[in-house]
Amino acid sequence: MPSQIRVRRAYDPPSPDDGARVLVDRLWPRGLRKDAARLDEWAKAVAPSTELRKWYGHDPAKFDEFRRRYLDELSGSAQRAELGKLRALAATRPVTLLTATRAVDISEAAVLAQILRQPIEDEGGDAACWASLVCPECGAIESEGHRPGCPVAR
Ligand SMILES: [Zn+2]
Repeated sequence: MPSQIRVRRAYDPPSPDDGARVLVDRLWPRGLRKDAARLDEWAKAVAPSTELRKWYGHDPAKFDEFRRRYLDELSGSAQRAELGKLRALAATRPVTLLTATRAVDISEAAVLAQILRQPIEDEGGDAACWASLVCPECGAIESEGHRPGCPVAR
């Protein structure tokens, strides 16, 4: 079981409880000093594409669609290899995923944390489809509970 996956803002001061600190943005957070960041990893390969990031712009109204497109990107081979590394890391110590945005709860880091908290199933299979984690009716991650009124939850 993964020990603990957390999500924080890259600009927040590091805490001793963070465990491995992993930046999951494609771009270095503007103005952040390398030594202040105290990173263990920079997992660029799992960051959203530039195109997706620009389209999204952390607009809460676009979050469900962002997640759908992002999960799609994460089924690529480079992304899956990097996710495998993060999963291995999380098996040994707490992991804190870092992103520059203030909107941490609707960031790619939040989506990655949801994936990394899932139990490992047929990781070796071809075409792991992260989209299957998401309820087609309400758009919630199924293992974390459906949204109020979702017909699947009844
Ligand atoms: Zn649902």
